[in-house]
Amino acid sequence: MTQIKRNPTRPVQIGQLTIGGGAPVAVQSMAATRTQDVEATRRQLELLQAAGADLVRVAVDSRQDVDALARISEGARVPLSVDLQENYRLAAQVAPHVQKLRYNPGHLHHHERDKPVREKVAFLAEQAVKNDCALRVGVNCGSVDPTLTQRFPAGDSISPMVESALAHCALLDELGFTRYCVSLKDSDPQKVIEANTRFAAQRPEVPVHLGVTEAGMPPEGIIKTRIAFEQLLTQGIGDTLRVSLTVPFDDKGEEIRVGRQILDDIHTGRFRSVPKVLSDGLNIISCPSCSRVENNAFVDLALKVREVTQYAKAHRITIAVMGCRVNGPGETDDADLGLWCAPNFVNLKRGAQHLGHFPYDQVLDRLKEEVDRLIANR
Ligand code: SF4
Repeated sequence: MTQIKRNPTRPVQIGQLTIGGGAPVAVQSMAATRTQDVEATRRQLELLQAAGADLVRVAVDSRQDVDALARISEGARVPLSVDLQENYRLAAQVAPHVQKLRYNPGHLHHHERDKPVREKVAFLAEQAVKNDCALRVGVNCGSVDPTLTQRFPAGDSISPMVESALAHCALLDELGFTRYCVSLKDSDPQKVIEANTRFAAQRPEVPVHLGVTEAGMPPEGIIKTRIAFEQLLTQGIGDTLRVSLTVPFDDKGEEIRVGRQILDDIHTGRFRSVPKVLSDGLNIISCPSCSRVENNAFVDLALKVREVTQYAKAHRITIAVMGCRVNGPGETDDADLGLWCAPNFVNLKRGAQHLGHFPYDQVLDRLKEEVDRLIANR
């Protein structure tokens, strides 16, 4: 089991669901149908609920969407969240039908340009209070507040995102509204990791919604998302998550299944990347395995690595066991010792250094020598 110390976030109530405050990480998704197609959106909601969604988000951009939402929400068995697009004033009509409102700080500039952003946020907070809703400050790489992007060098897309999130937290705090969470999304998992890490370092008490936007189709979309979530969740960052995948409407439940699988894998030590933050002592991580695995002996090998290195459990050593040549060579670089499987032998590494390749039945003895060496040199 991977021991994860979660950030001490405050609990935020969204209908019957709590995020933050030590509650299990909630898995959510979004209806991909046109909201005005009530039947299709109801089916989508049903499908996501059946897949185990804790919360479902719906996009609303017009009065017609609000009317459709009112009908859709009647059958909901999980809390609903609405994505407010540029027309933030729709919050007044939307809020009675949902438990959470998401606004994008970058979009608040487009509508009623002469009105201060503070007044718009105050309006949103007021609607949330009146209708017993939570808020999400949803910062997105593609639509960051333009006044902030100008303040940072052209190549720095992360600082404006973090500043935007911090500024909106400060605005909501000043307004006395604390029932909110924050998301900082990008399509690049490394940027998601950096933006969320920087935000959480400054506001560790604010619940965080994790996501890699436009992650794409499986399997690449899943891999990108997995890497970001592995790095963040092992640092204690993340109270709810959404996996965004380009899949047909009828397969949307996949987003929930993948989200739960990633959480489960992290708890049982199955990683696609080497997390920077792991618990003290010996950490054995192994990839979740997939169709690319080079030899079915991989799973047995991972179990044996765990078994034969138990004597080193008091030592802060990370050993990564990966199933194939596609990701094995690169993804083991950050571990103290790495093994990656080829069809007939196993490659052994110390950090980025390749130590040689060994038959499956001999590599464990060689591994133990390396573990002993690491212990002796510490
Ligand atoms: S390391 Fe290879 S076998 Fe393991 S999950 Fe990644 S691609 Fe699949």
